[in-house]
Amino acid sequence: MGGMRDDVSPIETSSSGVQANMPDAAKAEHMLKVRQREAQLFSEAGLAVLKQRALSVIGPAMDTRSRLAKRVLTAESRRKAVIWLRHAADALSTTVASEVACRPGCSACCRQGILVSEAEADVIGKAIHRTPIKSPPSAIMVSVGLGQKPEEMDLSRFDGVPCTFLMGDRCSIWSERPVMCRLQASFDRDALLCEIVPDEQIQVPYVDASPEKALYLAKVGVGMLLADIRDWFPPNH
Ligand code: SF4
Repeated sequence: MGGMRDDVSPIETSSSGVQANMPDAAKAEHMLKVRQREAQLFSEAGLAVLKQRALSVIGPAMDTRSRLAKRVLTAESRRKAVIWLRHAADALSTTVASEVACRPGCSACCRQGILVSEAEADVIGKAIHRTPIKSPPSAIMVSVGLGQKPEEMDLSRFDGVPCTFLMGDRCSIWSERPVMCRLQASFDRDALLCEIVPDEQIQVPYVDASPEKALYLAKVGVGMLLADIRDWFPPNH
């Protein structure tokens, strides 16, 4: 495939966000565990283990990943590209399932920013019979060489804010959830590092889905508005 490399790192470390209302004592106890886990996971030996576990599942799936990437790249319309991107994201998710912390009922990812393009918001809206907000004020236009880039978007205002579609720690639009939700997974053994803690930066060994994210921007992002899922579909709209 064009943008996918065989030598791509299978691990992407990123920071989880912040959440208000955690009592000081509980926060201190939690953060002690967090820092111990980070020290273990991100030591030289810990990183070697993480990488080995990641490669053991991702390595054999590279052909499938490349095949689906080609389907995305050759999709005739943005709508079809969204559908193929879902297949690609689901395939990656299935591939890593035995090695990641993600379990039913865990919703830490649903309290962070989730980028959705205008094209994908339309696909989701039609499926769930809701009209996305037209041109949300916070949206940016993604363009090549000019204009804003997605990484310039500050989604920290959504740290700790439940997604519109989170109901009782479950996604209420599971089959229609955004591609970015499907791509989020941690190679840790549990969700300790995914929990959002006030004013703390925490490293999470996320599955590196950068090839799929690049495809997303190329096929359904460039030339379109990009905004958070809550901007397209606010509660009570
Ligand atoms: S759409 Fe579903 S999976 Fe994605 S953040 Fe919202 S509740 Fe979570």
